[in-house]
Amino acid sequence: MYGTRGVVLGAGIVGSACARELALAGLDVTVVDRGAPASATTAHGEGNVLVSDKGPGPELELARISRKLWPEVLAATAERSAHAAQAVEWDPKGGIVVATTDAGAKGLTAFAEAQRAAGVHAKTLDAAALARAEPYVTRDHTAALHYPDDAQVQPAAAAAALLGDALAAGARLRTACEVQGAVTRGGRITAVRTSAGLIEADRFVNAAGPWAGELSARLGAPVDVRSRRGDVLVTTPLPPTVFHKVYDADYVGAVGSSAEDLQTSAVVESTGGGSVLIGSSRRRVGFDDRLRPEVLSAVAAKALRLFPSLAGVPVMRAYGGFRPYVPDHLPVIGADPRLDGLWHAGGHEGAGIGLSVGTGRLLRNLMLGEQPVMDATPFRVDRPAVLGAGARDGLDGADGPETPESEESA
Ligand SMILES: Cc1cc2nc3c(=O)[nH]c(=O)nc-3n(C[C@H](O)[C@H](O)[C@H](O)COP(=O)(O)OP(=O)(O)OC[C@H]3O[C@@H](n4cnc5c(N)ncnc54)[C@H](O)[C@@H]3O)c2cc1C
Repeated sequence: MYGTRGVVLGAGIVGSACARELALAGLDVTVVDRGAPASATTAHGEGNVLVSDKGPGPELELARISRKLWPEVLAATAERSAHAAQAVEWDPKGGIVVATTDAGAKGLTAFAEAQRAAGVHAKTLDAAALARAEPYVTRDHTAALHYPDDAQVQPAAAAAALLGDALAAGARLRTACEVQGAVTRGGRITAVRTSAGLIEADRFVNAAGPWAGELSARLGAPVDVRSRRGDVLVTTPLPPTVFHKVYDADYVGAVGSSAEDLQTSAVVESTGGGSVLIGSSRRRVGFDDRLRPEVLSAVAAKALRLFPSLAGVPVMRAYGGFRPYVPDHLPVIGADPRLDGLWHAGGHEGAGIGLSVGTGRLLRNLMLGEQPVMDATPFRVDRPAVLGAGARDGLDGADGPETPESEESA
């Protein structure tokens, strides 16, 4: 693979993780972004690295692989730059999930049972243990579980560390460079046409986050990645109030739901600077970037149920971002069967920060023909949720996509 040229399209945390793996494997890597690195969705994530919110299945497997990789990756980053590694604020603080209704307790207990069977550490907390672990959490709860493997990072700094590793391994970064189309020859993508001219390569990785659908359509091989908006409140710095990543048991239901209308659940965590992040909402509103008071107040109300002591705490700011959403809630990782040379790494919805390092490793495994860290079949591109109901049928006998930028037709 030495000398193989790879272009990663998108410098969010997923593109950065892919670039890191490919550059360390010896590929000649260029990372392209229409903006600045980590300035899009990645700058709007909360930074939770979670296993606790995933039921048994491929996403949990990728989460566990990623959770194992994070300390290894950051140790390697620290050898290059102690400052870059420290800025990531890696904090294996653990997560606590709290149910506040009888139905919630039943659901949470059953969910944890299934997770334990899949190898997840989940410890039941009685009222006294919960009070010791989180002195300010509501006493009005029906069940609580401790997940020691949950952790947290500062998302933009984590992406910068991964990209920094890639650049140190020889990768190049091109910012303010918008990908507009593909040049193809004989069913293979040979270049992308950008606002800064043509970039030729052997492999291209679509890591455009919630814009992966739009970008893939420009390249002539559309995948169904959409946006699912989330909003977060940020308090002024507080004395220590929240010690783990704490969330309401109904969060898992909101994550798994495909509803278009507003879903909210309380997700609360402190940051290195002392501010408490209060999430989160889920809405399918395209790329509508407006903050809505009714959404922010619904998020705040749920958080107060979990942490009554947050009442009266000043909110310093609120922000929102667009999760990259695939209708079956699984990421898309692998080669595009319609266009040789095109790969996808995206669609991680609300888990792309945590899953980035596992995604980068899996993509590298697949691209280089290595033994993959897990079976990547569930993330394949040619599944109905990604290509539509006729996904496989449409591929049979296909000569490749219609490419508006094909060299032959240009
Ligand atoms: C409110 C909120 C809270 C979240 N909390 C968490 C959390 O706690 N834990 C977690 O794991 N995840 C969380 N997430 C999800 C996480 O932020 C995303 O899954 C992740 O950031 C996606 O990263 P990405 O690199 O795929 O996308 P992005 O960061 O969006 O990067 C894609 C890049 O592609 C570029 N691009 C797009 N189109 C083009 C083009 N045509 N040409 C060139 N460049 C292009 C963009 O400029 C962008 O920089 C949260 C998300 C939100 C919105």
